[in-house]
Amino acid sequence: MGVLEAEGIVLRKYYLRETSYILVLYTREFGKVRGVLKGVRKPFPQFAANFEMLSLCRVLFYKKKKSVLDLITHCEAKDYHRALRSSLEKLVYASYFVELVDSVTQDHDPNPLIFDILRGSLDMLGRAGGAKRVRRVFEIKFLGALGFSPQVDRCVKCSSDVEGKSFFSAASGGIMCGGCRDDKNGGMPVSLGTAKFISKIQRSEMDRAEHIKLSREVGLEIEKMLDSFIRYHIGRPVRSLKLLGDLSRSGMA
Ligand SMILES: [Zn+2]
Repeated sequence: MGVLEAEGIVLRKYYLRETSYILVLYTREFGKVRGVLKGVRKPFPQFAANFEMLSLCRVLFYKKKKSVLDLITHCEAKDYHRALRSSLEKLVYASYFVELVDSVTQDHDPNPLIFDILRGSLDMLGRAGGAKRVRRVFEIKFLGALGFSPQVDRCVKCSSDVEGKSFFSAASGGIMCGGCRDDKNGGMPVSLGTAKFISKIQRSEMDRAEHIKLSREVGLEIEKMLDSFIRYHIGRPVRSLKLLGDLSRSGMA
């Protein structure tokens, strides 16, 4: 097979030898690509900056049949995402996005929507504006791309429109009305504003979603709801979430 060309975002980078790296990228065309990049010339860091985590790169590579590692022959940054690297808060959110994408995707299993959501979210983070809101948009869109969108416009049990307070449970996949809520999987109370915000983001384009406002109360509810939902579907704690918690307790995020 000949050389393949793709556009990808660097999820991880390992130092292999003095002039070699293992790069893990999420590409639009081929999904996750994991490969060795050899012969990275000195002096660093001007070459190393080409493939830092979060960089959007143009990459040329060969698929290797008998190896889990492809051979990357060229990797060049098109967007280093400099704007988001100057803020610790934004950098931690960006690492969280990348970690989520890495943890649920397989090598060579393309999902262009996931690439577009990751790229769009990194771009959004780089612009001014609330990093927390970008995180909500990313999570809601990302769950949708995986086919795990929580149902928030109607009760998951009886399909009735929910007016007023509803109850969310990750196991049932969305919100329940007061009548259908049972003691076994009680669910956390969710206000109508929260359900409406999530539903609006689910239906909006990425660049419009950025401008949908939410109140502090809705933000806190959504955080609890999405955290439990993501833990339920990903099935293991996300490392960067712990860091986000530490940052927010220290007042930095
Ligand atoms: Zn119901």
